[in-house]
Amino acid sequence: MRNDSASRTAQWLPLASLEDMADKEYDVLVVGTGAGGGAMLWRLLERLGGSGKKIGVLERGGLLLPTHVWNIATMSDALADSMFLDAASMPPDFLSPQIYAIGGRTLFWGLAAPRMSLSDLAGWPVPLREMNDYYRLAEKIMAVSAEYTRGSSLEDIVLKRLQGSGYPDAIDAPLAINVEPTKFGVVNSNPFFSSIVWLAEALNAPFDLAVHSRVTEAVTEKGRTVGVCVRTPDGRNAFIKAKNVVLAASTFGSPQILLQSGIEGAAIGRYLTNHSRVMGFGIVRREEFPEVFGPLHIIIPPREDRPYQIQIAGPDGYFKVQKRIQPLQPEWGVAFYGSGRVESRRDNRIELDPADIDEDGVPKLKIRFAYSEKDQAVIDLLLQGVRDAAAAAGIALVAETDRPDAYLLDPGLENHEIGTCRMGVDPQTSATNPYGRIHGVEGLFVADNSVIPTSGTANPTLTTVALALRTADHIVRHRLQA
Ligand SMILES: Cc1cc2nc3c(=O)[nH]c(=O)nc-3n(C[C@H](O)[C@H](O)[C@H](O)COP(=O)(O)OP(=O)(O)OC[C@H]3O[C@@H](n4cnc5c(N)ncnc54)[C@H](O)[C@@H]3O)c2cc1C
Repeated sequence: MRNDSASRTAQWLPLASLEDMADKEYDVLVVGTGAGGGAMLWRLLERLGGSGKKIGVLERGGLLLPTHVWNIATMSDALADSMFLDAASMPPDFLSPQIYAIGGRTLFWGLAAPRMSLSDLAGWPVPLREMNDYYRLAEKIMAVSAEYTRGSSLEDIVLKRLQGSGYPDAIDAPLAINVEPTKFGVVNSNPFFSSIVWLAEALNAPFDLAVHSRVTEAVTEKGRTVGVCVRTPDGRNAFIKAKNVVLAASTFGSPQILLQSGIEGAAIGRYLTNHSRVMGFGIVRREEFPEVFGPLHIIIPPREDRPYQIQIAGPDGYFKVQKRIQPLQPEWGVAFYGSGRVESRRDNRIELDPADIDEDGVPKLKIRFAYSEKDQAVIDLLLQGVRDAAAAAGIALVAETDRPDAYLLDPGLENHEIGTCRMGVDPQTSATNPYGRIHGVEGLFVADNSVIPTSGTANPTLTTVALALRTADHIVRHRLQA
């Protein structure tokens, strides 16, 4: 499937043309190549490999980077930040930057990959045992471990301080960083994980991938999925036929496609949820630690009396940009990232604005989001929580003239938006069933952050990947092997 177009396209990833794809009918068409879409593609091809099933992928963006930005040898922290800002598009009224490119936001993400706590998973429509199985698989294929900070004096000393001062449950953060050396001739050139690692593995089996191909609508006939409409930046339109479509276009992109398609669903676009994000910046003095500092990334998980998670990471940018010489400065910055639990509320939502049409003829999004009184109470606890954690870590927080020592970010800047196609059993309060299928539509699935039903406090990506793998298995079992 891929060879014809690959021979014509000298790129670091073989591409198909939209015109070639329009001549075929796909068994599964995946829309988007970020965390959810990448995991979906990887699992489908692992399960279906040489079966002859036709798998296609459509990606709105292009070939921005061939790996996570921090894997690039010449990258500085400042350069990585400016590449991110150059590439990012911001939805209106909600400041979460979106990356339209192969790899989506996994090209720039921060790699923290904790599981949701058991109490956060308790009300979910997925059995705990299955979540456990798919979390284990997700951690394996993202190379999640606490190895990156092992042996770091900064990590060990700060963790001991926390554990001895009221945080016995503080842990080395699970990070999607593959510290395995190159072995058996396989070169590990991607220690910092991005979904491009999965695209590389998927190349062992045939699939078609077209870039600069924005899906604008999912098309159904008599309740069955038949394909998608695509628009290119140069104004071409195409219809790609598919028996099953998996939308993995993000918390904003997937409901935008569904709403534009006129798919009925009382919860589509509703229940936009995030984590309230409280930040603090502290200073550590080099003289308090042995000569070799090392990276720091600790997580204080939620507890009954703590409806939030706190990450402590640093020092400054050098924890990730290891190739640069670390200046012998006496003081270093450490960041505190608090993530507060947020209620799932129907009124927090995205809608299409028929009065404001973008260059592809799609109505732009209007986003309505506000914290509730209960969310505000969590934020108050979290502001104090960050101060208490810093005191226990022996790190002095710094206030600036324009902000206090701990402060709330605007919604979206935490990059943890979820919920707009949440999973559930009741079509009034959920957009998909517990396997990610849109209620009432055969063959139309969602597999990205938008299916996460409630915020919990953990960073969302590991959970999105676990759920996407489970949805892939469901598609293979019930849609392709039946
Ligand atoms: C700076 C930063 C740091 C982060 N740190 C962390 C962290 O430490 N831990 C964590 O868990 N999460 C983190 N995140 C969030 C993480 O990146 C997201 O949770 C994750 O990438 C979401 O996966 P997704 O599949 O929903 O969307 P994305 O990864 O955004 O992928 C969406 C894909 O869909 C494509 N697309 C969109 N619309 C269309 C369309 N109409 N047609 C075709 N394709 C389309 C996009 O181009 C993209 O490829 C961070 C994010 C950022 C930006």
